[in-house]
Amino acid sequence: MDEILNYSMNEMAKASFDCSCGRHHILDIDKLVMGQGVIKELPEMVKGLGAKKVYMLSDNNTYKAAGETAEKLLKDAGFQVKSVVLDSGEDILIPAEHAVGTMFLNLEPETDVLIAAGSGTLNDMVKYMSARTKIPYIVVCTASSMDGYASDGAPLILGGKKISFIATLPYGILGDTDIMKQAPMHMIRAGFGDVIGKLTALADWYLSREMTGEYCCETCVTLVQKALDKVTGSAEALANRDDEAVLYLIEALTLTGVAMGLIGVSRPASGAEHMLSHYWEMEFIARKKYPELHGIKVGIATPIIAEIFEIMGDEIPEAAKKLAPTREYAEGLLKTVGAPVSPKEIGIDRDLFYQSLLDGYKVRDRYSVLDLAVEKGKMQEIAEKITHRFYDED
Ligand SMILES: [Zn+2]
Ligand SMILES: [Zn+2]
Repeated sequence: MDEILNYSMNEMAKASFDCSCGRHHILDIDKLVMGQGVIKELPEMVKGLGAKKVYMLSDNNTYKAAGETAEKLLKDAGFQVKSVVLDSGEDILIPAEHAVGTMFLNLEPETDVLIAAGSGTLNDMVKYMSARTKIPYIVVCTASSMDGYASDGAPLILGGKKISFIATLPYGILGDTDIMKQAPMHMIRAGFGDVIGKLTALADWYLSREMTGEYCCETCVTLVQKALDKVTGSAEALANRDDEAVLYLIEALTLTGVAMGLIGVSRPASGAEHMLSHYWEMEFIARKKYPELHGIKVGIATPIIAEIFEIMGDEIPEAAKKLAPTREYAEGLLKTVGAPVSPKEIGIDRDLFYQSLLDGYKVRDRYSVLDLAVEKGKMQEIAEKITHRFYDED
């Protein structure tokens, strides 16, 4: 029981065990390979699928970072490789009709494995194609910028709106720290922001367990917490792109996905901090503005949610209170890696920010500290206080 807690990352693939939460958990990912120089193991992974014809998707940035090497390794190993490099221009790739259509139009018959060489967006697109075509996929991570590598949700944009399509889990995830530590610092900070978001996400999960009786798996909580501790403990080293710190980061991001995969819900990864982030993002997309990286927004939202936990004080059940970080602690972590702390820094104006606090709880039908604040009639006072702190003091 719960032996998964003693497994290394690579041993967790295909885990299947009876958990102390009373459920039987299965992780439907075959290969998890992380570490220095592991890109060399890609041909072996593809061989494990019995595949011959590979379709690899990257963009101009990720092709340079990993796609080129992956393509060469596969060709040298005798695979037939169709490599499509999407043009993301100077900016990040937007996973909307044009990019997704281009990806599908380039899919040749008899392709038997898909590879996403990239991070968030490319991974989401390929996992969607995998779900629709039933062709398995492998992720070659280029940046530890978000926790979606091991999740089955594919957020894509259709008709200007972000839609979270249910997709499929990858056959394998390959995270080479030699590649990921070269990623732009902004992406590393984003990954860090997404990880520290788990501090409040886990507190929200406990809060919901206490308030609504929602199912909660302690093993998953511990799994995420252990990974989280390594990341917060190496924040300074991460700011210097230290190998081990980058490995801890990608492990934590993948492990959160693993925890989600085990129980089939995203509770271990996302709480109220993600709701604020989604609220801002939807508004940015509607205004046709650059939506900023997911983890950067989640990072900014985390100390804000921590502050709401603090303000709600004795209304919070003891178990959740113990898990919630203080605002000061969460802000300190962001500052250590040089990540933005104020919503102003990413172009969120006063009105949008204030409204997001009032309406954030509507983003998802999932109990969080925002719901508690609304129930207790405290949300408006809280929204005014926090908005004032960011926007009226200099
Ligand atoms: Zn469990
Ligand atoms: Zn996230």
